[in-house]
Amino acid sequence: MTIDKMILTQCAVCATELGLSLGKKCGRCSTRYCGPECQVQHWKEGGHDKLCKSIKKAGGAEQYNANKRYTEALAVAVEACADDTKGQTCYICTQALHWKTKEGLVRGCACRGTAGFAHVSCLAEQAKILIAEVEENNLGDDAFNARWVRWHVCSICEQHHHSVVLCALGWACWKTYAGRPEENFSRIDAMTELGNALETVRNHTDALTVKMAQLSMLRRVGASEDSILIALGNLANSYQKLGRRTEALNMYRDVYSGWLEFGGEEDRSTLIAAINYANCLISLEHFKEAKALMRKAMPVAQRVLGESQVTTLKMRLVYAKALYYDPGATLDNLREAVTTLEETEQTARRVLGGAHPVTGRIEDDLQKARAARDAREDLETFSGDVNAIREAMAAMTPGDA
Ligand SMILES: [Zn+2]
Ligand SMILES: [Zn+2]
Ligand SMILES: [Zn+2]
Ligand SMILES: [Zn+2]
Repeated sequence: MTIDKMILTQCAVCATELGLSLGKKCGRCSTRYCGPECQVQHWKEGGHDKLCKSIKKAGGAEQYNANKRYTEALAVAVEACADDTKGQTCYICTQALHWKTKEGLVRGCACRGTAGFAHVSCLAEQAKILIAEVEENNLGDDAFNARWVRWHVCSICEQHHHSVVLCALGWACWKTYAGRPEENFSRIDAMTELGNALETVRNHTDALTVKMAQLSMLRRVGASEDSILIALGNLANSYQKLGRRTEALNMYRDVYSGWLEFGGEEDRSTLIAAINYANCLISLEHFKEAKALMRKAMPVAQRVLGESQVTTLKMRLVYAKALYYDPGATLDNLREAVTTLEETEQTARRVLGGAHPVTGRIEDDLQKARAARDAREDLETFSGDVNAIREAMAAMTPGDA
């Protein structure tokens, strides 16, 4: 049996989910169908008779889809950047319009002024050439990784490209490597690029498809345990973002126990997996388990990473949340949440600064936890009063009677 190496996992006509091996393929262009009926319909009425040749010529259905989606994403990015790029030129090819594709310019990084305008094609070409050099001259993993970032990091400001520009680059990357054998490193990393890119434009449904395809592919090619755990963790994030929390929870649990087994409790990946798992537990209101998990992991993080490391701070934040989100929290729990957040906030301010997003999140939660604590204190003082009055009245009654 031939194994499909597709991220296209649905019938081209009725969109039935085919997974990676079900259904039928067009013998010429590899377009996939749930069965002969959809295939016949596609040929006769769906225009496949006219398209089949161009799809085959493009390199098959997967490549054709990658090219098409790239063209669409590019148009969106150029359109979104049109105002910003007016009158500018590409820092790579020095032209306003690309000589070959006639595409317009984009900019979606931290570059300001007249810096950083480019064609997506030029950015992609640059990254492709850098990687080709590493591959041809066997320059090794470090060189590969250092250069691979050009698929998502601007070479001028060294900040990530974001939003629609990153999305276009993600498709450009996938289109560049989709035709390679599936165990090829660049192709594997291109799937990661594409998944992340889709996520930044909040296309979580397509991101999920890409990540699922990547995970099954990694399993098929017998990838290392840690790369499978990374892929599984990314997939869990997609499920969580789509609100499919129970599926996410099962995966986060597997990822956590996987890292625990693979790297031990002191491994940084294990500690991060614990945070993700606990966050998901909280979102499903499993507060007790979340608290227990953080109580176990916090001292390890403090010992291994240090009190002021960002992972440790995040862990304490999650722990405090598990305490005060719980509707069954006691006043002591709420006070503990406030104390934890107060300490964490001070450390975050000192180490990360007030503008850091993690510091901001801690501050938000601190305010909420304080409000919850104050409300509970009022309530308990009030009910304390009521009891005192009742007692006093009970004591008075016999005498008055
Ligand atoms: Zn079908
Ligand atoms: Zn065909
Ligand atoms: Zn250019
Ligand atoms: Zn830049």
